[in-house]
Amino acid sequence: MAEIRVSGLQKRFGDFAAVKDSSFVVEDGEFFCLLGPSGCGKTTTLRMIAGLELPTSGEIRLAGDDVTFKRASERDIAFVFQLFALYPHMNVRRNIAFPLVSQGVPRAEIRQRVEEAARILRIAHLLDSPVSGLSGGDRQRVALGRAIVRRPKAFMMDEPLGALDAEFRHIMCGELRALHDRLGATTLYVTHDQLEAMSMADKIAVMNEGIIEQLATPREIYDRPASLFVADFIGSPPMNFLSLRAGLPAGADTVEIEGARIAMPALREPVAEGDLVLGARPEHVRFSDASPLRGEVFGVEYLGTTQIVTLVTRSGRVKARLSSDVPARIGETVGLTLRPEKLSLFDKASGKALRSALHDAAAQTRSAAMEARHG
Ligand code: ATP
Repeated sequence: MAEIRVSGLQKRFGDFAAVKDSSFVVEDGEFFCLLGPSGCGKTTTLRMIAGLELPTSGEIRLAGDDVTFKRASERDIAFVFQLFALYPHMNVRRNIAFPLVSQGVPRAEIRQRVEEAARILRIAHLLDSPVSGLSGGDRQRVALGRAIVRRPKAFMMDEPLGALDAEFRHIMCGELRALHDRLGATTLYVTHDQLEAMSMADKIAVMNEGIIEQLATPREIYDRPASLFVADFIGSPPMNFLSLRAGLPAGADTVEIEGARIAMPALREPVAEGDLVLGARPEHVRFSDASPLRGEVFGVEYLGTTQIVTLVTRSGRVKARLSSDVPARIGETVGLTLRPEKLSLFDKASGKALRSALHDAAAQTRSAAMEARHG
């Protein structure tokens, strides 16, 4: 398996820039997700790396080799699509064996590699069945089998679970990640589904309009979104945003909302009037009788152990994820508090997260821990 290194990658279709200056590294053995809404440039990025599309500019390295202008067939990458193109007239065994037959691999070796792949994917009992009668999940396993028998340097997967129903997709996420670990694979995986990305990836690049807005671990992306776009795209329901009118000096660590003093991570730099947006995840909103920040309960979604309560405040709607035991009646007015250490701060004009003293301290602790780990 191999590292994938992409530098300054751009793709224009006429005047339209589908991918604008992407740079990232997928480390050897990493499960890396490109995540973003439809049309943000994920598939185009993947296709350039796989050699199915030529970049307008930039460089792609696979295991150290510059493959930017190499044909797809010379890159040693296996591709798995959403619409698995199985050959309907061939049985499972011949479908999986197909790339090896095309490469002229000896028959005995083909047999051994196909049977090994089928065992890993738990479809050994289907090897001599026609593909026409297979379930969606088994068809997907056959498509994966065809990719893994090749023993490629890296796997490219473009929404491979998109055609499956939600429950089965969840099961396949677990299987795919286990398969990745078992093969020691390098996997680049495209999806618009945050749950798939969050549950499988070592790292996620969140894309928006051809740009990578944030590249980090799932936890960092959730806890410390780099922009309003990321904060809104990740999380269900997404982060609450409260726009603040007052300007604040550097070092400010409280803010007033509707007469309530809310503690927040101390600002590194001053913020001009009207420029600050406070972000709070629904699970960091609590009911608190005494708080002057008031909200009227507008809706309650019961989810079993938790409930999502929608509240209307004078600063806008806020969603709170609370234990189902907390009483919440539509129409009643309650006090609200926000967990200060969990708040995010954004510059309204640029949409970028503001750095805070607290976050810097957290980052320093993390990098000290990393240095200690790596000696
Ligand atoms: P989706 O999940 O909907 O495919 P995506 O993030 O993968 O979304 P891309 O398929 O990479 O998006 O497309 C990015 C943009 O580039 C879209 O606006 C798309 O219409 C445009 N695009 C892609 N291929 C071409 C092409 N061959 N010619 C012109 N425009 C294209």
